[in-house]
Amino acid sequence: MAACVVAAAALTVSHVSLSARETMKAERETFMLGTLINISAYGSDKSSLDAAISAAMEEISRLEQLFSVGIASSEISRINAAPTLEGGHTVSPETYELLAQSLREAEETEGAFDPTVGALVGLWGIGTDHTRVPDDFEIAELLPDIGYRKVALLQALDEEDPSQTIYRVSLGKGRQLDLGAIAKGYAADRAARIMRASGVKSALLNLGGDLVAIGEPPKRRGWRLALRDPYGGRGDYFAVITVSDSVVVTSGAYERFFEQDGVRYHHILNPATGRPAVTDLVSVSVVMEQNEARENGARCDALSTALFVMGSEKARAFLDKHKEVQAILISEKDGEHSVYVTDGLKNIVTYSDNAFLQANGGKNNAR
Ligand code: FAD
Ligand code: MG
Repeated sequence: MAACVVAAAALTVSHVSLSARETMKAERETFMLGTLINISAYGSDKSSLDAAISAAMEEISRLEQLFSVGIASSEISRINAAPTLEGGHTVSPETYELLAQSLREAEETEGAFDPTVGALVGLWGIGTDHTRVPDDFEIAELLPDIGYRKVALLQALDEEDPSQTIYRVSLGKGRQLDLGAIAKGYAADRAARIMRASGVKSALLNLGGDLVAIGEPPKRRGWRLALRDPYGGRGDYFAVITVSDSVVVTSGAYERFFEQDGVRYHHILNPATGRPAVTDLVSVSVVMEQNEARENGARCDALSTALFVMGSEKARAFLDKHKEVQAILISEKDGEHSVYVTDGLKNIVTYSDNAFLQANGGKNNAR
């Protein structure tokens, strides 16, 4: 029944030839945040590249210990275990910052992204070995508890040491947090910050499909990133996007799902219905600039999930209003597929060939 897998939604296609003697490459791959994390970096000193990658990996691991709902001692698990604790939970600045941003993204997307979907994620168990289709009653019972507006965040100066700020979070009865749709992007931002602060000028970070491209690869203009063909296998891609100092995040229904009685249930839920989002979108890639001044990883991650939930009409209206957000939407209607690309990406997206569109009987509506 279950077919639950996690992998990068985008693949690197530019394997750079390192003919220049002075250019060295360091690379590490590991499994964290329930997914494959790969960081590669280029520069003149291999040991400092290795050190930068180690520091970035350590930071991702540290953040996983704070945010993971799968780790009982994490701050998010602690909050979930006692959502009504009087006075709220004291948390780290990072947890506070990510929750504050989650609430902003929830507001901006009118709740299409909502960090309080935790109880629903648990009910469906998608991506776990206890996936099941809940009955209507179970979903209806949880729905009143879903709602980012009921989360309270409080910052105050520590009375004993006013040079310190205390960060507190209150959830309320029945409410459960899940940062699975935003924390990978936040971790990507933080890891990229560490790489840059270590002097790395050229690197690619891939946190299970959340990609940050720092600078440019050696001897090339931009990193060439392949966008996964949602109808193909792991290695198939439908387009290549060439970027530098950018973040690219993809959400789709094709990575984590299970099937029951011929129906596919995927892992992106509509917080309003409590069920996997019914949407004409098959895949959403969001692209924004990413540098010291603008770390957009968390925002891209939340938005890729939110646009997917919204469906193409609302997603396009959102993109029309937020010109700083670029996106590629693949939608499906009556068996026909189309690709929508925002203006800012038109010149940097190249389609691998027409096989994707032809094979799927679709048309390229890229504008
Ligand atoms: P996204 O679209 O970015 O996120 C979808 C996920 O967000 C869903 O799985 C659900 O958790 C949540 N969600 C669903 N709908 C909404 C919505 N409308 N609004 C807000 N959130 C929503 N995976 C494991 O298998 N084992 C682990 O131990 C594990 N640990 C993790 C620890 C951390 C800190 C993080 C960030 C992730 C972890 N993961 C783990 C992976 C996690 O489940 C991924 O985030 C998941 O695969 C979704 O990523 P995505 O990019 O595919 O989809
Ligand atoms: Mg996301």
